Amino acid sequence: MATYIGLDLGGTNIKISVFDDFFHRLGEKRTPTEVRLGSEHVLNRIYDAVLALLEELHLTCQDITCMGIGVPGILDIKNGISRFSPNFPKWEEVPIVAWMESHLHIPTYIDNDARVNLYGEWKFGAGKNRNNVLMITLGTGLGGAAVIDGRVIYGATGSAGEIGHINMFREGRECRCGSSGCLGRYVSALGILRTFREKVQAGQHSIICDWVNHDLDKVTADMLSRAYDDGDAVTIETIQETGKLLGYGLCAVFSLYNPEIIIVGGGMSRMGDRLLQYTREILDTHALRIPYGCCTIVTAVLGDAAGMLGAAVYAKEQFLQSAANN
Ligand code: BGC
Ligand code: ZN
Repeated sequence: MATYIGLDLGGTNIKISVFDDFFHRLGEKRTPTEVRLGSEHVLNRIYDAVLALLEELHLTCQDITCMGIGVPGILDIKNGISRFSPNFPKWEEVPIVAWMESHLHIPTYIDNDARVNLYGEWKFGAGKNRNNVLMITLGTGLGGAAVIDGRVIYGATGSAGEIGHINMFREGRECRCGSSGCLGRYVSALGILRTFREKVQAGQHSIICDWVNHDLDKVTADMLSRAYDDGDAVTIETIQETGKLLGYGLCAVFSLYNPEIIIVGGGMSRMGDRLLQYTREILDTHALRIPYGCCTIVTAVLGDAAGMLGAAVYAKEQFLQSAANN
């Protein structure tokens, strides 16, 4: 029976699943990416984690039909190269596919991380049977991908949907993409935590400070959710501002794509309506009225597992296509 690996390479964690031919999950592994140690280190971590997971499942590389990897940033999809990633320092022109194929001997395919999340949710989750789907992922960065008129869009160089780098402020926070004021520098796990830190550093008090012993680097997005539920004023202000900014950003994307559903995934989507109520408030008042009336915004059904599943689905499609072409 055919078996697939789906891998989601995140700024914080590498998430790997093995699936059977019906995309039932046979096993899963998560391990920290440790991206600050550079690309060679990350590739080796992927290699070790894949082998460890296969061993747990009593499988070998020969049992795997193919592997799909969702990678953040700008890719050369055809040649399997990650050109650069705004989320990763020390990361340029990384030949992921060649490296994996020569070390693991498993046919490997890469695509953008937000796009593999889209494949997962479109085939098996909240976007099932829909022809116009906008997927956004709230993780280390802000990702985006879309199905329009029944087709996943790629654009000239495969970067269609990079909504995290829409300019929201003429001059704003610097972004690793080389620009500044990008939406993803505010609406993402890193972005919202920075907003929170800036408010506390400016003198506002939060109950979270006690939880982390005043070490603001220890604050997580899940802590913000908890503090929000406890009525912490500075956290409510932070989430409100971030949710609204997302709304303004989505107004632009909405006009461009006219989606029937917007799916919000990634780890930070666990904030759910705490964040999205403010996003909806802006869309309700600022998005084009009639098309927006036909659109719903929901959180990803598959949660942060959508990327692994989508990467495996994508790899299978690519594998079958290349077999048919040969
Ligand atoms: C990258 C995207 C990615 C997103 C989420 C952005 O900074 O440019 O390609 O999808 O982060 O990881
Ligand atoms: Zn940017």
